Amino acid sequence: MSDCIFCKIVAGELPSKKVFENEEILAFHDIQPAAPIHVLIIPKKHIASLADAQAEDWSTIGQMQAAAAQVARELDVEESGYRVITNVGANAGQIVHHIHYHLMGGARLAPLGV
Ligand code: C5P
Repeated sequence: MSDCIFCKIVAGELPSKKVFENEEILAFHDIQPAAPIHVLIIPKKHIASLADAQAEDWSTIGQMQAAAAQVARELDVEESGYRVITNVGANAGQIVHHIHYHLMGGARLAPLGV
């Protein structure tokens, strides 16, 4: 999608601090980290959110999870623990409408809630 900020990162039109890349997935440090380790894991294909995923997207979404586990291992938060979440829609605070997992760790995280 031409006006999608994450598609521009995938295309190399916007910079990012990459930590992982393969044919389908890209992971990079969040520009406004909410934890000492805060990485975004995205598919190269534009999928707006989990709610927009189609049957053919589930293997890609599985690859996002595999990438999250690998990034956590490589950034040394596997043992201490980390969180992987995806925001869907307005109530969850989704700002970028290209599906992404937030991987956060490196500190004790606040409990989830309102
Ligand atoms: O889940 P949500 O859509 O709210 O999160 C979007 C995330 O993308 C934010 O944490 C924001 O800091 C990050 N972002 C980024 N690089 C950009 C634009 C947004 O890391 N160029």
